[in-house]
Amino acid sequence: MTRTAYLNGRFLPLDEARVPVMDRGFLFADGIYEVAAVLHGRLVDNAAHLARLDRSLSEIGIRNPHSAQEWERLETELVEKNGVREGLVYIQVTRGVAERDFSFPKGDVPATVVMFTQEKSIVANPLAESGAKAITVPDLRWKRRDIKSVALLAQVLAKQQASEAGVAEAFMIEDGVVTEGSSSTVFIVTKAGALVTRPLSHAILPGITRKAVLALAEETGLAFEERLINARELFEAAEAFYTSASAFVMPVVEIDGKTLGDGRPGPVAKRLRELYFAFAARDAG
Ligand code: PMP
Repeated sequence: MTRTAYLNGRFLPLDEARVPVMDRGFLFADGIYEVAAVLHGRLVDNAAHLARLDRSLSEIGIRNPHSAQEWERLETELVEKNGVREGLVYIQVTRGVAERDFSFPKGDVPATVVMFTQEKSIVANPLAESGAKAITVPDLRWKRRDIKSVALLAQVLAKQQASEAGVAEAFMIEDGVVTEGSSSTVFIVTKAGALVTRPLSHAILPGITRKAVLALAEETGLAFEERLINARELFEAAEAFYTSASAFVMPVVEIDGKTLGDGRPGPVAKRLRELYFAFAARDAG
């Protein structure tokens, strides 16, 4: 089936969707993106994703071209046109097309809006059964990681290092502490049984899955701490896992070649993965 994309008000075949060379997204990575999961053909936790999109755009001074209601209508139409049952919707908004100049273009330059879908098995993911492996890498990024910017070169390089090491994710380290995964939020469970993740700040992306997982932990009476995680603690943890819209809750069984626990997904990660599935299925209606 031909994939359908959305570009500036039109649904069209993906391979016909073209953005001009002078687009500021292409020249400067001057844009924002967002990714939401699709389960049973419906968007998961989408209001939270659209709220983060709105915040990211506002932080870099791009006017949000659509209301949340309009976004959701367009995304839903795109999911239907592509017949996606399980996967994700990708949204990108850039500052538009203008003569190359670092400062913002003068006048009312319309934002470029792109959307496409990807099919992906999220629930029946064999990696979640065996548990994922990760490596640690230095965090090379800028200082406003709370903004979901399309400037992802540091993450591209981190993920490539992970691929070359034959593992699924790279955990980024700065000043001896864990910031986040190259495309995920990091959690550990200490040997004392504490669930820990880093507090929100400009240093990390406010993960939508992170927020839902913490709410689920709270609902089930699972205590958690939001504090910095020392890189050393990763290797001493009873469990580790990472979360994202496209992986949900992914247990980690090995970091930098060192096995965690008994080398199998831990009980807390497994439980939170199940709880998140139930939440996502409820939310997707
Ligand atoms: N941190 C980074 C750097 C990411 O790229 C992602 C995935 N977009 C996340 C965290 C997880 O965020 P979410 O749960 O909203 O997908």
